[in-house]
Amino acid sequence: MRITEWSKVDMKWYFGVLCQKCGSPILFALDRSDGASVPAPAAKLVLTCSLAGCRHQADYSGATISRFQKQPDVTNEGKNQ
Ligand SMILES: [Zn+2]
Repeated sequence: MRITEWSKVDMKWYFGVLCQKCGSPILFALDRSDGASVPAPAAKLVLTCSLAGCRHQADYSGATISRFQKQPDVTNEGKNQ
């Protein structure tokens, strides 16, 4: 068992786009390259904002994909912007 993999803080990188409505990051994929690769624009990408109170669904095909890191003590829920 590889306990060490689970005991450390989640510092993984995720691919995501910024919500077209509220600007919050929408994470949709785990970057398994640890930031080594450049994300390519997706051919077809429809995402729904995970922020409660927004839930804006939009087509992000061809949108600029950025890399995000989850903050250990910050979640999308309960963030007021
Ligand atoms: Zn949103």
